[in-house]
Amino acid sequence: MLMRSATASLHERTASAPADATCDVSAARLIDDARALGVCLSDAVARQFARYHAELVRWNRRANLTAITGWEAVRTRHFLDSLSAAAALPATTLRSGEIIDIGSGAGFPGIPLKLAHPSMRVTLVEATAKKTAFLTHICAALDLQDTATLNGRAETLAREPDLRERFDVALARAVADTATLAELTLPFARVGGLVALHKKGDIRAELERAQCAIETLGGALREIKPVNIPGLNDDRALVVLEKMRPTPAKYPRRPGIPAKRPLARL
Ligand code: SAH
Repeated sequence: MLMRSATASLHERTASAPADATCDVSAARLIDDARALGVCLSDAVARQFARYHAELVRWNRRANLTAITGWEAVRTRHFLDSLSAAAALPATTLRSGEIIDIGSGAGFPGIPLKLAHPSMRVTLVEATAKKTAFLTHICAALDLQDTATLNGRAETLAREPDLRERFDVALARAVADTATLAELTLPFARVGGLVALHKKGDIRAELERAQCAIETLGGALREIKPVNIPGLNDDRALVVLEKMRPTPAKYPRRPGIPAKRPLARL
């Protein structure tokens, strides 16, 4: 029943999605595949995802938001992949916590997580003005409450007293390697909070290189959580860090330095 009504309503309302049977099946599969990831989406929320996709395609012409535009690919590679991070977030955070998405781009993973868990407060950080304009637009179009969009670099924003060490979880997907990301994310997490990074492929060497940065910034590796997105077989995982101690005041370093000279043992 649920599948049937989701199919019909998504099809009616998504003007720019291809009006064929493949799209119908795919749209309904968003709900099913999200459920397999432990995320429950109502028909109304599934419609919001369809609207999100339509706006992404419309804005992509001018803002260069993503190379992936077809519904099926957006559904798996953007929406479901973003939602997979929910498995790493504590239940209290999903209910009423505060998360920050660093280098959010077109809103991944922050916006799908917000759609699935609307009472969470979400801050989206993005350095590129055009992408930030899309984030502001889509948050208004989807009527997302308690969502802030910040245009700027993580290195600078992490020094703002009302952003530093204040979030339950800091997330980032496809922004940089783990050593760099430790410096861009850990300063935002409160002590006792978490960092969750989407990764794929063989990440052992990358984690080895990041060990020093993670410790220096006050973190510890807590878990590598394998993620199974239906239809994707590329060894996806969430790297979960725990914030053990405050980040020393000198971090993060100036914009660009965490990527250029990742913290490493001398
Ligand atoms: N997280 C999105 C976008 C990935 S592309 C996704 O998974 O689809 C990386 C994004 O990070 C780009 O939009 C880039 O502008 C942004 N970015 C890179 N370094 C940044 C920094 N230091 N501070 C803020 N945003 C940054």
